[in-house]
Amino acid sequence: MSELMVTLNNVVKSFDDNVVVKNINMDIKSGEFLTLLGPSGCGKTTTLRMIAGFEQPTDGEVIIDGKEVSNIPPHKRDVNTVFQSYALFPHMNVSDNVAFGLKMKKINKDDIKRRVMEALKLVQLEGFAKRKPDQLSGGQKQRVAIARALVNSPKVLLLDEPLGALDLKLRKQMQVELKHLQQKLGITFIYVTHDQEEALTMSDRIAVMNGGIIEQLGTPDEIYERPASRFVADFIGETNLFEGKVVGLDEQHAYLDLSGHKVPIIPTTKVSLDEEVSMAIRPERVQLHNELNGAGFAIPGKVVEHIYVGSIIKTVVSLPGGDQVTVNKTPEVAHSFAVDQDVYVNWEPDKAVIIA
Ligand code: ATP
Repeated sequence: MSELMVTLNNVVKSFDDNVVVKNINMDIKSGEFLTLLGPSGCGKTTTLRMIAGFEQPTDGEVIIDGKEVSNIPPHKRDVNTVFQSYALFPHMNVSDNVAFGLKMKKINKDDIKRRVMEALKLVQLEGFAKRKPDQLSGGQKQRVAIARALVNSPKVLLLDEPLGALDLKLRKQMQVELKHLQQKLGITFIYVTHDQEEALTMSDRIAVMNGGIIEQLGTPDEIYERPASRFVADFIGETNLFEGKVVGLDEQHAYLDLSGHKVPIIPTTKVSLDEEVSMAIRPERVQLHNELNGAGFAIPGKVVEHIYVGSIIKTVVSLPGGDQVTVNKTPEVAHSFAVDQDVYVNWEPDKAVIIA
């Protein structure tokens, strides 16, 4: 088995004059859980459909397990797709739905029976073989669709917003189940979602897409902690964005002028003196203080409001010059700062990132 399972080489897709996927390059490893994440219309589904074979690239190559597959129809590729809509046959029971593909391949009856039962066991639906789809809940229908896609042991499973129709609680439960299933089977999963939390929870790596390009490809941790662009910083989680000028440089740090204060940052990209840059800092990385504690920098501000969101409180602080910063803390910490109180904010220099 090759280490790489799917490769996209300079893949382009246009519909008439509309270029919806713009020269994408990506290597997906065998056994990897890779998520295509991005807002509606960014080209996720079109990319997935090119891997599945439902769309032909306008340009470039799709390689699956070492083979260029552009001229190979979907049913002859070693991939299966799970759709949000389940796409079950309503007149067939669960067992027949799962068996359908194997029957088409004329596999012998005993083998079909065994494999269907194995697939239903994987998705914890052993007792449901004789039910019709309309006798199942949304989550159970989606499990049948997953069993049907897994029953012929594809090398790659493509999943297009498979949990999109489920309520939040079931969705979260299925996220964990799917991740465990993928780890157990070791099959390469390529998963499409616009839900950043879902992507962070499930993926080994995430490709963040925007306007037909990949803005960043990395582990959830890299994407969250080191967003490469303003779009990624904004789309994944919450972030405070500031514009500032580089007013100093030493071996380790760049110093930005933020709200009239000289703020150190450890840049991961090259910056030059006098350059105007954008800086992102996550709300949970910002520290609040009652008084100047002497060490490092501190920007004075005033508490504007507390916003209660369950396990944390978002404290909005206004800074000199009109900027605001949001600080996420536990209720105990947040409530030690009153609305209208004068405070100081700072953060560790390596927790802020300079973004394009
Ligand atoms: P969503 O999350 O809404 O499904 P997406 O990121 O999956 O969005 P795509 O479905 O890949 O986006 O669509 C990307 C763009 O391509 C959209 O502007 C869409 O209108 C366009 N598009 C997709 N399929 C076709 C088609 N068959 N003909 C013409 N345009 C298409």
